[in-house]
Amino acid sequence: MRYNKSKKIIVTGGAGFLGSHLCERLLAQDHEVLCVDNFFTGTRRNIAHLLDDRRFELLRHDITHPIYVEADEIYNLACPASPVHYQFDPVQTTKTSVHGAINMLGLAKRLKAKVFQASTSEVYGDPEVHPQPEEYWGRVNPIGYRSCYDEGKRCAETLFFDYHRQHKLDIKVVRIFNTYGPRMHPNDGRVVSNLVVQALRGQDITVYGEGSQTRAFCYVDDLIEGFLRMMETGPEVTGPINLGNPNEFSIRELADAVIRLTGSKSKIVRKPLPPDDPRQRRPDITKAREVLGWAPTVELEAGLTKTIAYFDAFLSNEDAREAAR
Ligand code: NAD
Ligand code: UDP
Repeated sequence: MRYNKSKKIIVTGGAGFLGSHLCERLLAQDHEVLCVDNFFTGTRRNIAHLLDDRRFELLRHDITHPIYVEADEIYNLACPASPVHYQFDPVQTTKTSVHGAINMLGLAKRLKAKVFQASTSEVYGDPEVHPQPEEYWGRVNPIGYRSCYDEGKRCAETLFFDYHRQHKLDIKVVRIFNTYGPRMHPNDGRVVSNLVVQALRGQDITVYGEGSQTRAFCYVDDLIEGFLRMMETGPEVTGPINLGNPNEFSIRELADAVIRLTGSKSKIVRKPLPPDDPRQRRPDITKAREVLGWAPTVELEAGLTKTIAYFDAFLSNEDAREAAR
């Protein structure tokens, strides 16, 4: 029995980029947090500052296996998100999305807990409809290099909605568009971390293809605010709801901004475009505005400045550690 509004909340993937920020925000709201992570792409470093908090617990566990714990709410974030990482072991990526969803939904069913799914703009594939509203069913290659992630996440959405219809589960599905910020993995291959790290190290800045493909970049703090608002909604709100920043940039524009903000002397070099790389992506966030009263507040330049400061400090420490060896 609980006498206050403090809840016990599970965050799978809690040691990753987004998960670590979510754990931090939930603790700040006085909740108890159980972080469940197998450290495939997450690190202890991301959550080191939370380990002394008596309301924070860490469990090393792979969500493709069932888990028996107690909680009021579950945020399911576990899954590698960068193409380089999710293509490293594609079978495990699909298992994490699909078996992981089944395990978390089964847990939520037993506990009668709200369950949140971190879905993705990748469910729209390489979209013909632009910007992408939630009603668009997408254009996804089922057998390509990105399919383990895209189809895994699509199947997870199917499972969430079938558990909702069949077992009356209170589900919250958000589709996340490209998000960036401190604690991205410096080597995870995603465009913002790649370009910032390259610029700070004075290395060539790798733009894939012509750099004319577009993405819309959301700062992490904005996104986490959207997560919390979604979880607060009543059972009639299931999603899917797009969360992302609707300001769209070409990758070439992003590279120019990173060079300008770091003051780097790095040169831009072209690399081949990876297979099935979406040409364009931008969220229609009408639903998020209407249902959650949510919209991003951090402009790209402000968010990049904070991200650059994080990586600058991170790389200096890394250099210091290397120098001390
Ligand atoms: P991340 O790689 O930093 O974090 C993923 C976390 O999940 C890591 O800590 C990893 O160790 C953990 N994990 C992976 N497989 C696991 C398993 N089988 N069992 C337990 N833990 C496991 O990525 P992120 O950017 O923080 O993404 C978090 C979630 O948000 C993912 O589900 C991702 O698909 C989704 N998402 C992120 C973005 C983005 O731009 N960051 C965009 C769309 C969707
Ligand atoms: N990209 C790039 N240089 C890099 C890394 C990525 O030009 O060093 C491009 C990539 O081809 C894609 C875009 O940036 O068009 C976003 O890539 P990311 O891996 O961050 O995310 P996703 O493709 O899943 O949106």
